[in-house]
Amino acid sequence: MKTLAIIGAQWGDEGKGKVTDFFASRCDVVVRFQGGNNAGHTIVVDGRKIVTHLVPSGILTPHALSIIGHGVVLDPRSFAQEHADLTAAGVSISPANLKISLHCNIITSYHRLLDGARETQGAVKLGTTGRGIGPAYEDRAARRSLKLADLLDEKRLHAQLAQVLDEKQILFAQRYHVDYPSLQDEGAALLALGEFLRPYAADTFSLLHELQSRQRKILFEGAQGILLDIDYGTYPFVTSSSTGLAGIYAGAGLQGAPDEVIGLCKAYTTRVGSGPFPTELTDDTGTTLRELGGEYGATTGRARRCGWLDLPLLRYAVRAGNLTSLALTKLDVLAGLPALQACVAYEYDGQRLDVAFPGMDLARVRPVYEVLPPLQDAAGLGAGSLPPSVANYVAFIERHLQIPVGLLSFGPERSQLLQLRQYF
Ligand code: GDP
Repeated sequence: MKTLAIIGAQWGDEGKGKVTDFFASRCDVVVRFQGGNNAGHTIVVDGRKIVTHLVPSGILTPHALSIIGHGVVLDPRSFAQEHADLTAAGVSISPANLKISLHCNIITSYHRLLDGARETQGAVKLGTTGRGIGPAYEDRAARRSLKLADLLDEKRLHAQLAQVLDEKQILFAQRYHVDYPSLQDEGAALLALGEFLRPYAADTFSLLHELQSRQRKILFEGAQGILLDIDYGTYPFVTSSSTGLAGIYAGAGLQGAPDEVIGLCKAYTTRVGSGPFPTELTDDTGTTLRELGGEYGATTGRARRCGWLDLPLLRYAVRAGNLTSLALTKLDVLAGLPALQACVAYEYDGQRLDVAFPGMDLARVRPVYEVLPPLQDAAGLGAGSLPPSVANYVAFIERHLQIPVGLLSFGPERSQLLQLRQYF
């Protein structure tokens, strides 16, 4: 196997960082292709917690090359901060092990300000991270985005930045009443950051093509999840990029199809921010899941909403994301519960539905649950064997989704993984 994609099968936070880190040690290249520093991937190494946001989780693997593809929105200030944090944590990060596409879209102060103003003063609270991701993608679609290459040329930078600010200043002054930096100040700051970024800037598309042609093992690291995809997600409570396979082609480049598309899936469901959530548990069980699972966002610290596994949504994620197998995480958390249920179908407009579809109004569905034996013997996973209740839950999921579960995770540590299927 040479190419592998890791895609969130739910609403993000499935543990992609940990699983990417596991596979990265077996790969030559790790690629981010969409999103930005709204991602928060937590990896625990020997009890030490390291969080990556924009930088691929592969950076923790000394021999791997990390690539940030052109589909990513790059906040140079946030990158400088993450660079400093990773360096302070003893992670080696240099132009030798990290390349950033010259064609990346740049997040400016204007995007962050607009995102924050809309979230606090706008009509609909989408629950965004307020980091300017959505407004930066808007400018990309409107064909006025600043690219990393523009930061390396003062004239181009000022011309392009003027376009980015043009209509926003009316919104800042007349709609949201927020102060914003002058073009000169923002331009000067971005120019300085461009110098910091210059050694990392590269034509990553051609580099990736060459690496793939040379049979290098390449891992594509998705951020967020299928249910947050701009087209397949629970619109409008979504992120602004393609979080599935399409995002790899649009935002990094790939010859042919990946050998495996692993969907990352918690043993239950969580969702951060607003939007419908059919299997949400608003009772004590939900609170227990949140506390046992530490379900608080790595990027914003927000409490995540928790609920049972939702198979109609997962069947949909398998289709929409072209998933070929699943990695099931946080089994240890479910083990702390005395009861277990999973949603196997929906009742929707008087009909039984097995699978969701784009644009489905999830606020109107009634989940149909199946009661399962609880996972209280999951502690046995640490011994490398498959306890009967876990084997039963895995078989139940495989039967419903018709794809194999290839990997089990039962704790935040790097070592707390059980491989059921050989990938690399
Ligand atoms: P990502 O964005 O998909 O990488 O997910 P996050 O890193 O935001 O959230 C996953 C959280 O769960 C992190 O705090 C991980 O350390 C933690 N985690 C990952 N796998 C497991 C697991 O199997 N069990 C437990 N208890 N925690 C896990």
